[in-house]
Amino acid sequence: MSYDSTNIFAKILRGEIPCGKVYEDQHALAFHDIAPAAPLHVLVIPKGAYSSFADFMARATPVEVHGFFAAVAKVAAQENGTADFRLISNNGEGAGQTVHHFHVHVLAGRPMGGLLGE
Ligand code: AMP
Repeated sequence: MSYDSTNIFAKILRGEIPCGKVYEDQHALAFHDIAPAAPLHVLVIPKGAYSSFADFMARATPVEVHGFFAAVAKVAAQENGTADFRLISNNGEGAGQTVHHFHVHVLAGRPMGGLLGE
């Protein structure tokens, strides 16, 4: 899917709508999910215009890829210490992706059993 810069996370990156920011660096922005599925539910998004994980891995530079995933690790440590957590990235609508700017969900704070929670 080609990147559509009217998506809601692009608007957050441009400062057009607010977010509950928890972390930002040159590669990534992290903020609270508006509909949390766990006591800790933070979204981490790259600063670049990538529609999905697959698009990010196909087009981002190695510096961007490393910078982004380093930011995910920093967010998890900052928000959750050394406790257990789950990372999710839905790649495509069939996998549940609703916002087409690549993002990783960081979830923690409650027991998580089955992989899909069903
Ligand atoms: P996904 O379904 O994997 O694309 O995840 C999109 C996530 O974005 C969902 O968990 C939504 O609750 C969340 N979301 C949608 N709009 C906002 C917003 N304005 N601020 C924060 N999170 C949002």
